[in-house]
Parts: sequence; C-alpha cells; structure tokens
Amino acid sequence: MSAKTIFKKIIDGDIKANVVYEDDLCLAFHDVSPQAPIHVLLIPKKEVVNVADLTAQDEALAGHLLLTVNKVAEKLGISNGYRVVANCGLDGGQSVDHLHLHILAGRPLTWPPG
Ligand code: 5GP
Repeated sequence: MSAKTIFKKIIDGDIKANVVYEDDLCLAFHDVSPQAPIHVLLIPKKEVVNVADLTAQDEALAGHLLLTVNKVAEKLGISNGYRVVANCGLDGGQSVDHLHLHILAGRPLTWPPG
C-alpha cells in the first residue's frame, strides 16, 4: 500500500488543517503557504490523484467540487472575484498527489502564470 499523502492525512484527522468547509464528499482548508491573501484548497475525500486521474465514475464528484468552489468563496466573503487552479502532473507543478483546487483571492492576480 502506498503512503498516505499529506491531504489524506488531513482528511483522516492525522494532521490538523484550518478547515473552512466540509461535506460528505469534500473538504476545504487554508493553504499552509498562501500565495494570495485568501488561498484555500478544496479537495475530494475520495483519493483521486489529479484531474487526469478522474474517470467517468467521478462525473458527479467533479461536478460537486466545481459547484462547491463558489460556496466556499461565498463563505469566505470573497466579493471581487477569484481564481481556481488545478495543477496536474509534473509540468503542471503539482506537488501533492491528491486532487485539489486552489482558490486564490484578495488581490488582482496576473496572467499568464509562471
Ligand atoms: P500543488 O503544488 O500540488 O498544486 O499544491 C499543493 C499545495 O498544498 C501547496 O500550495 C502547499 O502550500 C499546500 N500544502 C502542502 N502541505 C500542506 C499542509 O500540510 N497543509 C496545508 N494546509 N497545505 C499544504
């Protein structure tokens, strides 16, 4: 069995996170190294590696995650827009192998990313 990712440890309560939202399918918590005044990670409780690892069986879960983004944004009082990022794989800059959506807000964000 492969080792638990840091996010699986957060789901299982092995390590603490500053949780902002939770339901049966997903969990949102503040990033430990924020890249904007608001930087929250939204993750499925199911162990999925990244967007490329999603299958047709995950259709409802993927939809639920996207719909939950705005719920989290409203809960955080974000009123001036935000960015949603899903880094995928090596070139995508993914460092934790558990699907996560970064929700970034609180300052104007530049484009393109580095
Ligand atoms: P990635 O680079 O995979 O897209 O994003 C992983 C994110 O997880 C990074 O922004 C990193 O700061 C965050 N992160 C890594 N370890 C922890 C942790 O133990 N707790 C929290 N809250 N965030 C973490």
